[in-house]
Amino acid sequence: MINFVEIEDHVQLADYATFIQLFDAVHALRSTAQTLVHHLQGRTVWMINSTAQGGGVAEMLPKVVVILRELGVRTEWVVMGTEEVEFFSITKRIHNLIHNFGDAGFNADDRALYEKVSREVASELIEYIHPEDIVVIHDPQPLGVGAELKRRIGMRAIWRCHIGFDETTLATESAWGFLKPYASVFDHAVFSVPDYIPSYLKDKSSIIYPALDPLSHKNRELSAHKLVGILCNAGLMIDHHPVLTPHWENQAMRLQPDGTFVPPKAGYDVGLLYRPIITQVSRWDRLKGWKPLLEGFLRLKRWVGPSRDNQTRRERRIAILRLILAGPDPAAVQDDPQGQEVLEELCALYRQLAPWEQESVALLTLPMISRKENALMVNAIQRCSTVVVQNSIREGFGLTATEAMWKRVPVLGTSTCGIRIQVRHGMEGLITQDPEDPEEIAEHLDYMLSDPLARDMWGRSGQRQVHHHFLVFTQVREWLHRLVDVAGMPPY
Ligand code: UDP
Repeated sequence: MINFVEIEDHVQLADYATFIQLFDAVHALRSTAQTLVHHLQGRTVWMINSTAQGGGVAEMLPKVVVILRELGVRTEWVVMGTEEVEFFSITKRIHNLIHNFGDAGFNADDRALYEKVSREVASELIEYIHPEDIVVIHDPQPLGVGAELKRRIGMRAIWRCHIGFDETTLATESAWGFLKPYASVFDHAVFSVPDYIPSYLKDKSSIIYPALDPLSHKNRELSAHKLVGILCNAGLMIDHHPVLTPHWENQAMRLQPDGTFVPPKAGYDVGLLYRPIITQVSRWDRLKGWKPLLEGFLRLKRWVGPSRDNQTRRERRIAILRLILAGPDPAAVQDDPQGQEVLEELCALYRQLAPWEQESVALLTLPMISRKENALMVNAIQRCSTVVVQNSIREGFGLTATEAMWKRVPVLGTSTCGIRIQVRHGMEGLITQDPEDPEEIAEHLDYMLSDPLARDMWGRSGQRQVHHHFLVFTQVREWLHRLVDVAGMPPY
């Protein structure tokens, strides 16, 4: 099954260049494009991945595609799918094993199914792709499709792997061993961090940092009125006054003590605009460290107890503190079959809490039916946050940390490779050494909450980091170099 993804995005490079802090980056991209784009004339670049929404890849691809097109590079984005539900269980296991998580080993049936689906998808794509085109495959799910296309058409192919682990273990070896026959036939591979590159791809790999689009609905500035409007429209807050735009049909949903989900404004109001807020926004994936984060937050709350008279400023801040755990409506993310299960585990934990604790935790599912509305909800929630946490046990990169940094919100990250290349301990926030230790999480949160001046400084430093390293313009410049390099490779 293949799906050509349409992208609605009318923001042009000239629009970015009107922002003084983006002008230089746009200029540098245009200069690079002037010297490189003509080498790509007559070719189409095919970006192929496995979901149009949910997760970092789907987040980044639309803007990269739109900018490449504006620069004159013919580019298409195709999402692969399959009716074989077991296929995405296999690829999820590969994903987890690359992150050193889960039991090593695949059997012949796993490989047979992976190859069968790869062949089917490749057969659908084959009529569109020409030998002079360049195929860019994102992550392990469509890797076999790319290998099959390479075998049948012979076009240039790049594998863009967004995940990795900075150690070699039995588990990681088993995943890399599974992928080797497909990855080895690619002309080039791109990783986010050098430590992620498996030994057999060392000679033909390079690094491109993930990046964000500063004017996307996820990241653009929101005026106070716009922010309030979004919170009201999304059901995240009770509207005490009329707001300009009507309520959105698909509302954010908050878990209630009885296990049902209703819009937060219809149940416990979260108090987003009033209270100190700790937030994590991610997919419902065990590797995102949801459970220990919840436990760490509760430990901090229990140190102080519910709000009462005669508390010190520090105690009061913690007493009125709220935790937002927000993720996509799990039915919406096609390539993440464990999402529902992980969400249910969290719901079960929530239901065991005392009422005053339940009130302080907002477990939210965000509808994905409208990408724009979902992005605006995430944007607004991140901007209302005192601290954004990305408590990943493993993380390929962690765009959510980048997004918070761009908004000058300090980040509590973890020592997993993807996060620590962005967030430096004591510079953009703090780093938890053991994301599965609630005590350490509680101590870090306490420290971050108690120091408003440090938080401001971490926020500013975060925005600078993103400006220097993680904006989409740098990412597209790197892509142009890679595409031209492979286009210019001598024929076999
Ligand atoms: N995201 C979103 N809505 C959600 C949950 C996550 O838009 O309900 C986005 C989030 O803002 C970020 C991306 O999904 O842009 C997650 O990327 P990240 O690199 O953090 O992790 P991945 O999901 O790729 O492992």
